[in-house]
Amino acid sequence: MNPAATNQDSQTQRCIAEAERYGATNYAPIPVVLERGEGVYLYDVEGKRYMDMLSAYSAVNQGHQHPKIVAALIAQAKTLALTSRAFHNDKLGPFLKKACELTGMDRALPMNTGAEAVETGIKLARRWAYQIKEVPADKAEIIVCEHNFHGRTTTIVGFSSDEGSTEGFGPFTPGFRKIPYGDAAALEGAITDNTAAFLVEPIQGEAGVVLPPPGFLKAAREICSRHKVLLIADEVQTGLCRTGTVLRCEAEEVTPDVLLLGKALSGGLYPISLVLAKADVMAVFSPGSHGSTYGGNPLAAAVGAAALDVLVEEKLAERARTMGERFMAALRKGLAGKPQIKEVRGAGLLIAVEMNHKEAKRLVKTLASRGILAKDTHHTTIRFAPALVINEEQVDEAAAIIVDVLGE
Ligand SMILES: *Cc1c(COP(=O)(O)O)cnc(C)c1O
Repeated sequence: MNPAATNQDSQTQRCIAEAERYGATNYAPIPVVLERGEGVYLYDVEGKRYMDMLSAYSAVNQGHQHPKIVAALIAQAKTLALTSRAFHNDKLGPFLKKACELTGMDRALPMNTGAEAVETGIKLARRWAYQIKEVPADKAEIIVCEHNFHGRTTTIVGFSSDEGSTEGFGPFTPGFRKIPYGDAAALEGAITDNTAAFLVEPIQGEAGVVLPPPGFLKAAREICSRHKVLLIADEVQTGLCRTGTVLRCEAEEVTPDVLLLGKALSGGLYPISLVLAKADVMAVFSPGSHGSTYGGNPLAAAVGAAALDVLVEEKLAERARTMGERFMAALRKGLAGKPQIKEVRGAGLLIAVEMNHKEAKRLVKTLASRGILAKDTHHTTIRFAPALVINEEQVDEAAAIIVDVLGE
């Protein structure tokens, strides 16, 4: 019997045992059972409070259970939830208008998950290649980056470089070429007459908050325009104020041809994603060519509109920038000169600490015991991405604990 035998019947143990008995084993969560959230905080079933430094992979930029988004969800749930796109609904138009105006795009196509937005972007780019660029049938190519993360469908994992995501899932969809991330010369070298698009994350979040060299996005934009290749920015994680601007592309004044959003589009209350594009590109979709039963339903649209309002009303881009600067400065100062720390990097409130050892998983558990929930990547890196509503005191408190644990 393990030393926790006296705790065998704790609610935590029971919840974990049941999930492990009946669940698939595709996740290995740390042993914390959460039951309530508010702002930057999460509470477990034993009543312990944690600062959430993962924010559901940046889906909860607006903070857990944001009152305005919760109110929109409840009101719309009582009114109308799902009609299918066979009919119009009164909430979709206002939501799409808000999303287009906020991002500077012309048109938006609603889906549910980030992976579906990526799949939609791929279909859009291929159709555009055949109809507009006149690429020969079934020859369209899409260039992607090494160490990308774009989701979990069979097509998407087919161009992943992560063995854990691909092993045993083939055969994969053809039509993708991989280049090193951040390498503009490699991008230009990989382009052929059949290239439809370059699909890229402006910062690679899942890879461990990897920033490309400065100027890469701008160079990619110029190269894509010159070769008549669509630039598809996957901002599912970096978008919606996380990095200190509404879109990360703004950091280099780049406008993509196709923009993919998800995660924070609902502030964590509903799965919502969007593919946004310039009008001439989106025009290649005709009625019947693409769709989704839940995509664009009135409940999602009402929640999405409220979630976008919160980003604007609470100036969360600016907040991510100022709080991110404060957080990163505190981490850099506190961890300076520590031999086990390789790098503190990030943008806005998307921050990572990379270590010279492979103890990230153990440190994440120590952080949890100290009231900080964070996620390790690749054994060496821990990501810190709190809700953007975090305040100065909370940043300082979190940074002090993180410095203490990582600098041990
Ligand atoms: C999370 C993520 C996705 C996939 O989103 P899901 O909602 O999990 O399907 C796609 N792209 C990026 C950059 C992401 O971070």
